[in-house]
Parts: sequence; C-alpha cells; structure tokens
Amino acid sequence: MTESRLSQVDNLKLTMPALGIDLGGTKIRAAAVLNNKLVSDPQEVPTPSGAENIVNAILGLIEKFQAKHVLAGVGIATAGIIDGDTGEVVGSTGNLPGWTGTPIRTAIESRTLLPVHVENDANAAAFGEASARNLRHLNSVCVVTLGTGIGGGLIIDGKLFRGAHFGAGEVGHSRISLGNKRLCTCGLFDCWEAYGSGRGMVATAREILVGLNADQTPLVALGSNLTTRNIVAAAAKGDIVAQRAISMWHEHVAVGIVNLAHILDPSVFVLTGGMAECVDFALIHEMVVDRCMSRIGENMRIEKSELHGVAGIIGAAELVLDAILERAS
Ligand SMILES: [Zn+2]
Repeated sequence: MTESRLSQVDNLKLTMPALGIDLGGTKIRAAAVLNNKLVSDPQEVPTPSGAENIVNAILGLIEKFQAKHVLAGVGIATAGIIDGDTGEVVGSTGNLPGWTGTPIRTAIESRTLLPVHVENDANAAAFGEASARNLRHLNSVCVVTLGTGIGGGLIIDGKLFRGAHFGAGEVGHSRISLGNKRLCTCGLFDCWEAYGSGRGMVATAREILVGLNADQTPLVALGSNLTTRNIVAAAAKGDIVAQRAISMWHEHVAVGIVNLAHILDPSVFVLTGGMAECVDFALIHEMVVDRCMSRIGENMRIEKSELHGVAGIIGAAELVLDAILERAS
C-alpha cells in the first residue's frame, strides 16, 4: 500500500468514530469512540442467553449507532479467551454459557460489512487505559483490575501482548503462597486473586476474626454477611481489627505487583476496578519500592485509573482501529 493511502487510513483514527462494545455477563454496553474519548452516551441492553441471541443483540446496538454515526469499525470486548487473529471465542467463562466456539468476528462482519475486532475484556480494558492515558509510547504498561477477582493486561511497545495461547495477562492466577490455604475461583490454590481481590480481603478478615468476640470488633456480629464495604467502614471508624485486615490486604496487593515488576520491569502500573478505590496509593507505592530491586522499583509509577468503567469500550474501539491500520499496511 502506498504511503498516501496509509496516511489516509491513519486519518480514520482522527475523523471517524469506532463503536466500542463491552459484553458482560449481565449487560452489553456500547459507545462511539473517537481519539480515545466517548463521543456518544453509552447505550446498554441486557445480555440475552445463547450465542445467537447475543450476536443479534450486538447487531441491534450497531444498527442504532449507525443511524447517527458513520462508523470506521466495531471493537468487541468479551469475557473468555479470544483468538485475536480470527475473532473466535476459544475458551469461555461461566458468565456466558454456550459462548465457546462462537465466530463472533465473522458473524458480525458478514452482517454489517464493517471491520470487526474481538478481544478478551481484561485485555481490551488494559489497552483502553494505556491509550486514554497516552501511555502507548512507553516500554511497557501493566494494568491490574482489582475487583471481586483480579484481572490484567500487558501493553508492550504500544501493543497488546496476548501470549502464545491468547492467555497472557492472567495475572490474578500467579501463585503467591504455598500450602493450599485458599482455593481460587480458577480451581487452583493460593492464587494472587485469592488474597488481593475483594474476596481476598474478606477471607483475610475472616481469618483474623477467628476467636474474637463482638466486644472486640463490630465485624464479628456480621457473620457470613461480612463485605469489603463493612471492613472499610469499620476501619474508618477506628476498628483496629478492620484496619489490620486492610493493612494485610495491601501487603497482598503489593506482593503481586512486586512479582510482576520483577518479570516485566514496566514503566507504569495502572490499578483499576472497584477495589482500586480501597488502595492507599502512597502506601502501596512505598511497599512495592521497598520490596523491589532498587533499579526496578525506584522509577516505576503506580497510578489509579480514571476511566470509570468505560476502559473496555475505549480499548475495543482503539483495537479495531489498529486492526484496520494493520490490515491496510
Ligand atoms: Zn486462580
């Protein structure tokens, strides 16, 4: 392709929005994205059951946006392991039963004639963070989603790193302890997720509560209803047991970051997800620097996401624009 044709295609990124779609277990959200920013209000529909119904719901959303925008392409972020080359779901999660084996890219491209890119949702969110924060020029960026579980994505030399089996970035399932103490949702024991996630904070608090009574901490009375919200609220009121649980949770979050830092030596970590709200960033930075080899830890940044739940939409849209450029070159 000639250089002028390439720059024309490059211009697409600046002039035509792409549709970013975030397909979750309960809802499908979509918005038009231009230059890493939403240029329309997000629209959402409930996620129907069955692969064919999901594809039809996605097609319905695309049609709605096409009525208002000329779209350059469609990026779709979904749970499951995605073959980034074919856009097929090669491994799914319990949230979307029957989704494995669905050739989403072909199904949507053949019906809309728009370029489509499909990506794992954690990868798409990581790419959205790196794009929107203008971090793609850096050597490497590691995005960690701290929520009920722990997910992640790696951006190396400005590109999403997918791994040999499209499974890279499953940072939550690196093992941080021995002894089979905590079972993880993945079926393995002692994963980082079992300690550093919201579920991990609650499990840590429960361990501390063993043998304590209601006079020592209000958390005892909550029994099986104990949540991260209760722990954070009790800590803010000065409950030392809750404060201990939060302090240990920071240790657990830090150890996973330290392990990643020694493998990747990234320029920046971005922490996102609901539990990132519970992170004391000054404390976590101090802990990580303290536990890292000095050359790695000293200049590494640890930042908080500011995208408020639209990282997947932005990332999916940016990925299809990149895919259009790649296919044209
Ligand atoms: Zn696991």
